[in-house]
Amino acid sequence: MISIEKNIAEVRERIRFSLQKAGREGDDVTLVAVTKTQPAEAILAAYQAGLRHFGENYLQEALGKRQQLLDQGPIDDIIWHYIGPIQSNKTRDIAENFDWVHSVDRLKIAQRLNDQRGADQAPLQLCLQVNIDNEPSKSGVAPQQVLTMLADLSHMPRLRLRGLMAIPQPGRQASFADMQACFAQAQKHFPTLDTLSMGMSGDIELAIAAGANMVRVGTALFGERRR
Ligand SMILES: *Cc1c(COP(=O)(O)O)cnc(C)c1O
Repeated sequence: MISIEKNIAEVRERIRFSLQKAGREGDDVTLVAVTKTQPAEAILAAYQAGLRHFGENYLQEALGKRQQLLDQGPIDDIIWHYIGPIQSNKTRDIAENFDWVHSVDRLKIAQRLNDQRGADQAPLQLCLQVNIDNEPSKSGVAPQQVLTMLADLSHMPRLRLRGLMAIPQPGRQASFADMQACFAQAQKHFPTLDTLSMGMSGDIELAIAAGANMVRVGTALFGERRR
């Protein structure tokens, strides 16, 4: 049995300690609980323990669990983050069912999300994914494309451009530092950007040392994934 309360407390302590070490005591870090492959009950337990931000990677799985939660009772203050790969035929469901998307790296996808975001909904909060290490296997725009992409995204009225997302090479401090520099450069040109989404179970400390203010944590909260 894993104790979600205990795990949340441990992750919060890691965040607090990292902020302190970085001299960032006053800063807020949003903890996004990544629940891919975990059942709806795990989301509910984490919700009851106080978490509100949840991240999912697979659309069908996310929509199924979301419906299960709705069926159990009114839970309307969860903030849903889409952090997985985006196929263009899935953009409508993503645009209509999520509050944030972290994994945008193509203009065409962004345009579809913009066009499909419900007129009655708040703008979709958006992070541009950056492939900070230029790894062929990873999604994200190259660091040198970030400014032009941001300029294009900034003209889309149904998207609210919030910042950058990255998955730096695990444990490689230089990659986190590169991302910090990339974000600082982006903020210089787009001063309203306020979010650096970076850091997972294994590297919360490195991420916060490099300025992250949103971390996406799965295994440290929920244990090993179910498949
Ligand atoms: C799965 C996933 C996470 C969480 O990873 P853990 O190592 O389980 O904390 C964070 N971000 C993305 C994009 C993921 O796919």
